[in-house]
Amino acid sequence: MTKKWVFLARNGKQEYAKILGREPTLDEMKALFGGKGAGLMAMTEAGAPVPPSFTITTEACVEYMRTREFPEGMWEQALEALRDIEKQAGKKFGDAENPLLVSVRSGARQSMPGMMDTVLNLGLNDVTRAALAKLTQNEWFSYDAYRRFITMFSDIVMGYSRSYFEEKLDELKKREGVETDPEVSVEGLKWLVNEYKAMYKARFGEDFPSDPYKQLDLAIRAVFDSWNGERAIAYREHEGIPHHWGTAVNICTMVFGNMGNDSATGVAFSRDPSTGAHEYLYGEFLVNAQGEDVVAGIRTPQQISLKGSREWAKRQGISEEERREKYPSLEELMPEVYKEFLGIVDMLERYYRDMQDMEFTIERGKLWMLQTRNGKRTAAAAVKIAVDMAKEGIITKEEAIMRIEPEYVDQLLRPTFDPNAEKHLIAQGLNASPGAAVGKAAFTAERAKEWAAQGEDVILVRPETNPDDVPGMLVSKGVLTQKGGATSHAAVVARGNNLPCVAGCGEISVDTNRRMFTAPDGTVIKEGDIISIDGFTGEVYAGAVPLVASRYEQQVELITLLSWADEIRTLGVRTNADYPEDARRAVAFGAEGIGLCRTEHMFFDPRARDAVVRMIIAETDEERQKALDDMLPFQEQDFEGIFEAMDGKPVIMRLIDPPMHEFLPSREELVDDVYHLKLEILKNANSFEKLDELRAELDEKERMLRIVEGMWEVNPMMGLRGCRAGIMYKGLTEMQTRAYFQAACRCAKRGIDVHPEVMIPLVGVVNELKLEREKLEAVAKQVMEEEGIEVPYMFGTMIEVPRAALTASEIAQHAQFFSFGTNDLTQMTYGYSRDDAEGKFLLQYVERGILPENPFQVLDQEGVGRLVKMCVEEGRAANPDLEIGICGEHGGEPKSIDFCHRVGLDYVSCSPFRVPIARLAAAQAAIRNRAK
Ligand code: ADP
Ligand code: MG
Ligand code: MG
Repeated sequence: MTKKWVFLARNGKQEYAKILGREPTLDEMKALFGGKGAGLMAMTEAGAPVPPSFTITTEACVEYMRTREFPEGMWEQALEALRDIEKQAGKKFGDAENPLLVSVRSGARQSMPGMMDTVLNLGLNDVTRAALAKLTQNEWFSYDAYRRFITMFSDIVMGYSRSYFEEKLDELKKREGVETDPEVSVEGLKWLVNEYKAMYKARFGEDFPSDPYKQLDLAIRAVFDSWNGERAIAYREHEGIPHHWGTAVNICTMVFGNMGNDSATGVAFSRDPSTGAHEYLYGEFLVNAQGEDVVAGIRTPQQISLKGSREWAKRQGISEEERREKYPSLEELMPEVYKEFLGIVDMLERYYRDMQDMEFTIERGKLWMLQTRNGKRTAAAAVKIAVDMAKEGIITKEEAIMRIEPEYVDQLLRPTFDPNAEKHLIAQGLNASPGAAVGKAAFTAERAKEWAAQGEDVILVRPETNPDDVPGMLVSKGVLTQKGGATSHAAVVARGNNLPCVAGCGEISVDTNRRMFTAPDGTVIKEGDIISIDGFTGEVYAGAVPLVASRYEQQVELITLLSWADEIRTLGVRTNADYPEDARRAVAFGAEGIGLCRTEHMFFDPRARDAVVRMIIAETDEERQKALDDMLPFQEQDFEGIFEAMDGKPVIMRLIDPPMHEFLPSREELVDDVYHLKLEILKNANSFEKLDELRAELDEKERMLRIVEGMWEVNPMMGLRGCRAGIMYKGLTEMQTRAYFQAACRCAKRGIDVHPEVMIPLVGVVNELKLEREKLEAVAKQVMEEEGIEVPYMFGTMIEVPRAALTASEIAQHAQFFSFGTNDLTQMTYGYSRDDAEGKFLLQYVERGILPENPFQVLDQEGVGRLVKMCVEEGRAANPDLEIGICGEHGGEPKSIDFCHRVGLDYVSCSPFRVPIARLAAAQAAIRNRAK
C-alpha cells in the first residue's frame, strides 16, 4: 500500500490515529501537518467554521526535497482529497458554472512569519472568473480576485516580483484619481488583468497558466521549494530550527472577505499580546478586503471590539463621531458575528490551553476561521497570561511556571524612561512591543548592522518592515515604523524577539532615500541622530531620554508567579551584595540571605584609604596595628547597614580576597610621578624652599615605588591573595572579624536578628583553613564577651581552588559550610585567566564550536561541574551537616541553576537583579527534574 501523504481536515486526526494505533499528541500533529495544518484540523474537529481543507504532509516535502519529484501516490491522493472538499463545498475545481477556488498555503512545524507565502484564489482563469462574476452578481469582485491571483502566482510561484504588479495598480489608481483599492473601477480592473497577462507573457514567453490543475501542481512545488529559499534558511539558522523538517502544504477552499461591505478579513488575539489583558477580543480587520491586506498595512484597519476601538480612537486623537462613522468596530457592525467569534475563541483557548492568534474572514456575514496558533507575546503579557490561565483553571501553576523563560523576568526588570526627565516628544505611534530604547537612527537594515557591529546602539527606522529587514532588526535596540498595525511584520518580529517597537507611527514621514524622517512639529531626524522610543506607550522622542529602574512592586502577576515558584523550589536563593542598598534591593526581590558580601570595596572608601595604604606598607607590627585600628570603624559601619537590611537572614562575609597591591597606586603612575618630580627639581634649582618640599615628595614617591615593585607579581591571580594574604598580613583577619562581630553584636543588642557567617577565600590546603579558623574563633569569642551578648554564627570556606574540591573530605571537617566560587574555580580548572581569555580567544572558541558556551557564563557541567559534584558528595560524607551553596556568577544562570539543583546544593547566590530569575529557574529545575 502506498504511504498516506494527504489528509483531510475533517478527519485527518482520526486517520493519523489509525496509522499510529493511538491518539497523536499535539506535537506529533504539528510535526506531520505543520502548525497551520494541525490548527485547521483542530478547529474543524472542535466544530469551528473552517472552509473545507486538506493538508499534504511535511513527509511529502522531505521526500520531494530528496527526489525533486512528488512522492509516489501523492498527486492522486491530493486529487482525491480535492474531490472530497468539492463535495463539502458544493463546488467544482475549474468548473464553468460553480467553480471552487482554493488557497495553497505553506505551514511548517513552527511558524516562520513571512518566510513562505500563500497563493490565494487559485483555480481562476477567464472561464471561472466569468462564472464567479455571474454567481456572485459581482463583476468587480471577480476581477479583483483575478488580479490578486495573477500577482501572487507570478510572485510566489514564478519569482516575478509583485512590485511590478503593484506599480501597475498604483498607476491605475492615480489615473482614476482614487486612493484605496476598493475604489478602483471594474473597467480599471479589467484593464489591469489584461496588462498583467501581457507582462507575464513578455517575461516568460508563454501564457499565464489557465489550467487549474497545472496551477495547483506548480503552486505545491513552489511551497515545497520555498522551504529551501534563502530567507527561510537564514531564519532557521537564527532560530535553531532544523533544516530537515520540511513544510506541509494546506489547500483550503477560498472564502472571500472582498465580496462587499458585508465581508471582511482580519486577525485576532484571544488576549492582548502586549499586556496580556483578557477583557475583550483584540485585533483588527478590514471591510471588503482579502487576507494579506491587513498585514500589509495599506489601509487603516478597524478594531474588532467596541472597547478596543474606543481606546484606539483615543490614542489616535480621533473623535467618537468620526470613529463610529469611519472606523466602527466589528462588534458594532456585525454583533452576531462578534458573539459567535467570542465563543469560538474561548473554545480554542481551552483546546490549546494558551493564548491564540487567529485569522478569520467574513464572507457575506458568515464567519470563517482560517488559522489559529499560540500567539507571540511580550514578556509582560507572557507572565500575565500564564498567571491568569492558572487562576482560570486552564493550566496548572506548574505549567504556568514552566511557560515563562527566565530571561523574560530579566526583561520585566529592565529600565523604562524617567518620567520626570525633560523630553522632546516628536511623535506618537502604536505601542507594538514594550521596552525603552535609545540609539542612533538608521534607515536601512545594512546601516543598522554596520553600526551595531561597531558597538553602537541603533534604532532601525523604516516605513514598514519585511523579512529582508529582520537581520537589521535583530541587532537594533528598537524599531520604529511609519505604517502597519499591531499585527504588522515589524510588530510581530519585535515582540517575538523582545525588541522595543513603535509601529504605525503615521505622524512621521520616513524618507529612506534621503535617510531621514520629519515629525509633525517640523523636527527632522537624520541618519545618525539619536532618538528614544518607548514601546510601552508608543512615544517617540528626539535625543536620548534617561532611563530609570523598573517597578518590581507593581508587577503583580510576576510577584504571584514567583510566589508559586517559591512553593515549589527546594533550592534557596541568596544574593551577592556588598552594600546595604544592594542588600535591601535583593530582599525586595526575594533574596533569603547574602551568599557573598565582598569586603574589598570598603578598602577603597576614600575615608579609609590612607589607613589601608599604611597597613600595607607598614614596616613594624605597631605601625600595622595602628593602621588596622583606623580601618576598623569603616568596616564596622558597613556591616551594620547590611545586618539591618538582612534582619533575620544569614549574611556571609568573605574576608579580603584580591592582591594587596590593588589598593596601592600603580607602578606606572609612580614612575611617571617620580619622573615629573625630578624635572620639577631641575627647573627649581634656585628656589631652596621649593626644593625641600619637592625632595620630600620625591623621597615619598620613591619609597612607595620600591614597595610596589617589591610586591610585583608575575601572575597576581595566583599570587599573594585570598587567605594567603590573611595569613601573611598579621592582624588583618582579626581586624575584619572584629569589625564584623562588633557590628553583629551591636545590631543584636538593638533587636536585629543577626546570622553572621564568615567565609575564607581561596583555601587550597586544610592547614590554611585551620589557621584562619583559630584566629577567627578567638576574636569572635572575645568580641561577644566584650559586648556581653552571644550571637549564633557559622564559619566556612569558599571552594574555588581545584585542590580544595579534591580534598573536600579533609576540608569539610573544619568548615560548617562550603560556597563554590565558580569564577575562580572555572579559571583554575581550565587554566584560563578570564580577562585574557575573553579578550583574546574565548569568544572565537565558542564561535568555532571548540567550546559549546562561554564557561564563565554557563557552568561547565562535565569538567568544573564534576569537581563540584565530587566535592559535594565527599564533603557531605565527611560532615553531614555541611551547608553548600554557590556564589559565582553562575548562581544566576538558569542552566547552571538546574545543575545546582541536581547535585543537591542548598542554595544559589546571585546579583540582586537576578534573584527573581533564580527563584523561577530554581522552581523550573525542581519541576523538570521531578518529571524525569
Ligand atoms: P501566513 O502564514 O503568511 O499567514 P496564510 O496561509 O495564513 O499565510 O495566508 C495568508 C493570508 O491569506 C491570511 O490572511 C489568510 O487568512 C488568508 N487566507 C488563506 N487561505 C484563505 C482562504 N482559503 N480563504 C480566504 N483567505 C485565506
Ligand atoms: Mg496566516
Ligand atoms: Mg574568588
